[in-house]
Amino acid sequence: MKIFCIGRNYIDHAKELKNPVPKQPLIFMKPPSALLVNHKPLYYPKFTEDLHYEAEIVLKISKNGRHVQPEFAHKYYNQIAFGIDFTARDLQSKLKAKGHPWEIAKGFDGSAGLSQFINIKDLKNKENIEFHLANNGKTIQKGETKDLIFDFDYLITYISQFFKLQQGDIIYTGTPAGVGPVKIGDILEGFIEEKHMLTCEIR
Ligand code: ZN
Repeated sequence: MKIFCIGRNYIDHAKELKNPVPKQPLIFMKPPSALLVNHKPLYYPKFTEDLHYEAEIVLKISKNGRHVQPEFAHKYYNQIAFGIDFTARDLQSKLKAKGHPWEIAKGFDGSAGLSQFINIKDLKNKENIEFHLANNGKTIQKGETKDLIFDFDYLITYISQFFKLQQGDIIYTGTPAGVGPVKIGDILEGFIEEKHMLTCEIR
């Protein structure tokens, strides 16, 4: 399976990291070994001193497809999860400054926190999915999918021009504003609408 991630897909987040707002989706990937599931803790990696959370809605691809046309894109997914795109921000900044790929800052073991999947049709408002992340019981990041620059259907169409989508692939759809650091001992909890989806302790 493949793990796609979208960078800078919310205007306010692009601005907070002083990045330009993209004209097309910015795609990167994480290896399957990055997955952190079943509410497992994340051990703070030794190679960073600025580990950040990025709360994201994750789409699961439900059937294979290439060159998916916009009008059919909605047929390629029906489930979402809560994800945390963990990022070694210090390392990523250095790599970006040199124009280098940022895999080691974004694709390391445990960098893809993932909850169980739920059916989109069971959501209260599938047109504007609300999600938030809490740290030690306090909300630290909030998002609404109506603020996406490139919506789910657009991402499916765009990605499938380059990569064959396969059933079980997942897409981290980008993070809203409000990213920030975590420290050892933090307990992160992710919610979609009011449903508790994920717990992740930083150890
Ligand atoms: Zn992200």
